[in-house]
Amino acid sequence: MDRGFPASGRTSLLLTRKILVGVDDGETVEIRCAGGPGPRAIRRAHLISRETAFAQEVVDREWKRDGSDWIGEWHTHTVGRPLPSNLDRRTYEGIVTAADLEFQRFFSLILRANDESWEDLDIVLWEIDRQGIRPRSLLVVNVE
Ligand SMILES: [Zn+2]
Repeated sequence: MDRGFPASGRTSLLLTRKILVGVDDGETVEIRCAGGPGPRAIRRAHLISRETAFAQEVVDREWKRDGSDWIGEWHTHTVGRPLPSNLDRRTYEGIVTAADLEFQRFFSLILRANDESWEDLDIVLWEIDRQGIRPRSLLVVNVE
């Protein structure tokens, strides 16, 4: 499962795709947790395979806690705008068209850090379904 990415730390945060966990009621999607890949990702290991033990833990914990499931992914871009690359688009298309994943829609948060401290971020939420990909409005709620 492990393809040689760093097991933890900022480097892997910067370079790898991570899952988004939350609840999608068909209208509003609530992103509750961001972690590594989830159970369905593990089954589709050719699509996404990263830090699977940690990811399984995250999804299991959130599922038990409030029914949250794998709803998308997030990753960062180090250059340019937070727009999906051609590789991103092909990856998402594979996910929403994979029959066994059963996604009606899939979400991607793409982050671009404008400074070293990661305090100045451009964040765009993308919604992907079989019809295509589009930016969606994002409301960030701090629950700390
Ligand atoms: Zn990307």
